[in-house]
Amino acid sequence: KLYNEVQDLKGNIRVYCRIRPFLPGQSKKRTTIEYIGENGELVVANPLKQGKDSHRLFKFNKVFGPEASQEEVFLDTQPLIRSVLDGYNVCIFAYGQTGSGKTYTMTGPNLSSKGDWGVNYRALNDLFHISQSRKNSIAYEVGVQMVEIYNEQVRDLLSSDTSQKRLGIWNTAQPNGLAVPDASMHPVTSTADVLELMTIGLMNRSVGATALNERSSRSHSVLTVHVRGVDLETDAVLRGSLHLVDLAGSERVDRSEATGDRLREAQHINKSLSALGDVVFALAQKSPHVPYRNSKITQVLQSSLGGQAKTLMFVQLNPDVESYSETISTLKFAERVS
Ligand code: ADP
Ligand code: MG
Repeated sequence: KLYNEVQDLKGNIRVYCRIRPFLPGQSKKRTTIEYIGENGELVVANPLKQGKDSHRLFKFNKVFGPEASQEEVFLDTQPLIRSVLDGYNVCIFAYGQTGSGKTYTMTGPNLSSKGDWGVNYRALNDLFHISQSRKNSIAYEVGVQMVEIYNEQVRDLLSSDTSQKRLGIWNTAQPNGLAVPDASMHPVTSTADVLELMTIGLMNRSVGATALNERSSRSHSVLTVHVRGVDLETDAVLRGSLHLVDLAGSERVDRSEATGDRLREAQHINKSLSALGDVVFALAQKSPHVPYRNSKITQVLQSSLGGQAKTLMFVQLNPDVESYSETISTLKFAERVS
């Protein structure tokens, strides 16, 4: 029943907004969030204005306020994830400025506390449970890959090979359907397996990072879960995949200030995020031409964007008044695709 609900969605694109709480030490009065409605309404207030132009209304499939738990967020994501076991391709990504809670939503603040787990772990945990419960009729195999896209180069985050070679992207119409066939594939059968891999992936992601140069906010990380199921009665094979994406921070970098590497990074990020926006916009408009070729991220995600695939975007917001202009630009990005 839940699956039907998901299939009926217009264009199979959903947009959820999540507002992170103020962190200890931040004054709670300085918020731009004026109102959160039951049906996905969000009103944002401009701290510099008064009167009729001071508020803007946005509409989402759902808005999660600062007090929403990881579990609540997952409950509304679960039907989508389960459809992967029925052979669908699903893409879930988190968009927003650095510090808005993208990693919190996708991964969680730390791996040791189960209650804090983000969508990634809960999704895999759920897939293992369901596949176990169907084991008398369907034999499932689950494998994961994890890559990082940094400066338009794709790198394996789960490889023991530290040479960090750049990986090519294939057309997913290939028989094996893999977008990045040379990224290592790891069979997993339990959440413990996943935790172990993810710890390696997160460690590899921060290679080269310094305090001033926090790389994870300037690269996209893509965890891909491949599912293959064999119907034990008919031998029919089904394949589904799930892309879980923690995007680079969407904040605008001041061109007059950034130079060298920082400027180049910023240009790659801007270009790839707008390419992703263009793809999702084209899909939402049911445009016959979808511009997948304009960036690595859209090429990697192609099989789970469009066609029968289902897409969910988390639009992440920092409620602080100091983030007002970034909040508005994040909301404008979301408005375009929803
Ligand atoms: P991003 O990945 O977008 O840069 P993070 O996920 O690292 O942002 O979040 C920034 C900070 O806010 C972290 O300390 C994180 O633990 C905290 N945080 C984010 N979202 C929440 C939330 N929903 N509840 C509690 N803390 C959060
Ligand atoms: Mg992050």
